Amino acid sequence: MVLTERDRCKVFNHIGIVLFLYIIIGIGPISASVLSVKNPSPKSYTCVVGLAGGTTKAMPGEVSLAHNGVLFLDELTEFNRATLEILRQPLEDRRITITRANYTIEYPCSFMLVASMNPCPCGYYGDPLHKCTCTPGQISRYLAKISGPLLDRIDIHCEIQAVPFNELSKMKPGEPSTSHRERVIKARLIQEERFNDYKNVHCNAQMTERMLHKYAEPDEASLDMLRLAMEKLSLSARAYSRILKVARTIADLESSEKVQSQHIAEAIGYRNLDRGDWAERGI
Ligand SMILES: [Zn+2]
Repeated sequence: MVLTERDRCKVFNHIGIVLFLYIIIGIGPISASVLSVKNPSPKSYTCVVGLAGGTTKAMPGEVSLAHNGVLFLDELTEFNRATLEILRQPLEDRRITITRANYTIEYPCSFMLVASMNPCPCGYYGDPLHKCTCTPGQISRYLAKISGPLLDRIDIHCEIQAVPFNELSKMKPGEPSTSHRERVIKARLIQEERFNDYKNVHCNAQMTERMLHKYAEPDEASLDMLRLAMEKLSLSARAYSRILKVARTIADLESSEKVQSQHIAEAIGYRNLDRGDWAERGI
């Protein structure tokens, strides 16, 4: 069966709702690598051309090879900062323009970015079993490898704690992934219906500012919470929009017609690295 572009968009949208940044504590080799669904062999890249594309033959880079799929960047902080910065245009426009001396070319690159990183250079910050040997200054410099504007464009920052070995056997099985899948598909169908009259908009992540006002307008209580979060966490206007989009998705997962204050609160909770006090938090 050959999937049309719209079918592939639907499949992609069923897989993912928003962007993720995972912080995996104390595991993983210290080397940057890229993995995309259409190019599943992990590659080590620290150069702009590898990620963005634009060799002498104007070949597409990993961001375009991951079009309508998932782009996974392992050990995000090990990438060269200039390399990571090229993600800003693709994450915003879902297209990338490459200009070289003898050509200018544009490639599509609508992908879901998933990335992982350690919480500090030694990898043990916040680990209950190991002592982190990094100073607050070292941790701050480590996190500063990811620029504020790039961080702004990542919807969810999620901390994952290592589970001690003796706890693993006591853990009860959680909600099975089949029921997760059903909830996600249901939420995706709600979004398909919502954006039926819009061209090239299939999910909440693609909403414009005007759509946000129409479909994710916060109530009075939520507005107060957002105002406080903006002031306390120094959130940008972009982060504000992203919070509303994530809140809309959380509401869809609960089949809630309106975005309510608990949805906004949960979405604000996912802006973990925006707070700027990571190195002093002692998680
Ligand atoms: Zn450390």
